[in-house]
Amino acid sequence: MHNITLIPGDGIGPEISEATRRVIEATGVKIDWDVQDAGVDVYEKEGTPLPQRVIDSIQKNRIAIKGPVTTPVGTGFRSVNVTLRQIMDLYACLRPCISFKGARTRYNDIDIVIVRENTEDLYAGIEFKKGEPETFELIDFIKEKTSREISRSSGISIKPISVEGTERIVRFAFDYARENGRKKVTAVHKANIMKFSDGLFLEVATDVARSYTDIEFEDKIVDNMCMQLVQKPELYDVLVLPNLYGDIVSDLGAGLIGGLGLAPGANIGKGHAVFESTHGSAPKYKGLNKVNPFAMMLSGVMMLNHIGEKDASSRLLNVISGVIAEGKHVTYDMKPDTNDPTAVGTSDVADVIVERLQKQ
Ligand code: NAD
Repeated sequence: MHNITLIPGDGIGPEISEATRRVIEATGVKIDWDVQDAGVDVYEKEGTPLPQRVIDSIQKNRIAIKGPVTTPVGTGFRSVNVTLRQIMDLYACLRPCISFKGARTRYNDIDIVIVRENTEDLYAGIEFKKGEPETFELIDFIKEKTSREISRSSGISIKPISVEGTERIVRFAFDYARENGRKKVTAVHKANIMKFSDGLFLEVATDVARSYTDIEFEDKIVDNMCMQLVQKPELYDVLVLPNLYGDIVSDLGAGLIGGLGLAPGANIGKGHAVFESTHGSAPKYKGLNKVNPFAMMLSGVMMLNHIGEKDASSRLLNVISGVIAEGKHVTYDMKPDTNDPTAVGTSDVADVIVERLQKQ
């Protein structure tokens, strides 16, 4: 029996979480779910979108699977997703972008794994709001130390990138490459412009690479990387990126394989792991039983693999791959015409997968 925390999330989260829970259970793996709500609805009831009970549950169970959680723009409400990754020190975000036969995309045979640093960079949450006394103090300090003028109407976000933070994420990428028979790691950065943050990332990555002589190493500037991924994705294998570029390039990767509906992910730390899709809470589809549950189900496939349930993981992956290849029991976003009336709902996708797993 595995004890696993299930965070349904908000927006479309509860629907795709329920679909995912059902297909995982249908593999026969015994799980005692500790369901913990978090997100905007919880904020209204409990005064925080991420109550301590959620953190305690993940601390205890060590494994969680999570639906997306909304981060309202321009409010004081800090992202639950980012906060959770920082509190639990889930420093590695692993996002495989692997083509499925039958998925609607311009590309075939994409096989790239994105390793995103999850705790530092512009997402560290160190920000100074326009017009606040601390912001003016910082602007004055910078002027005094560097003679550079920052407009007093500025808001400021700080971008810390550390040696130890870089070292562990680059090691994670190389270890992942080694364990999974991959050949090359590409470090992605903008070291030509941000010499002391991205420059440090590149320097440390190059150093770490020296101790992995069996894996090829190269680096790419992030803007060039985006173009290369669109033009020649077959040249890339494992990418390792600081937080912000990792976030953006992950969506690019999702686009290569047929969209966010197919892009799973895992946030991994020393002793804990939280599995979640790349996509967000798509609030406009909340409660409509319409969106694609595959990204979260595929995060479940990654979770089963992580907890040692390799057979269940590959059975679930095979059934999902079969359903995608047939293109029949899939949601609107996977149909050639998104208005196709034969598109099925979120729970119908789960029904067909459960049925096939139970027949095996
Ligand atoms: P989104 O990923 O929710 O949606 C982007 C687009 O993809 C939308 O058109 C949406 O309808 C579509 N989409 C997303 N998931 C889909 C699915 N499963 N099936 C079919 N279509 C799908 O991104 P957004 O609109 O920028 O963000 C909405 C909210 O989600 C924001 O508050 C954001 O902060 C939050 N968010 C949360 C997470 C997370 O919980 N890890 C990740 C990203 C965004």
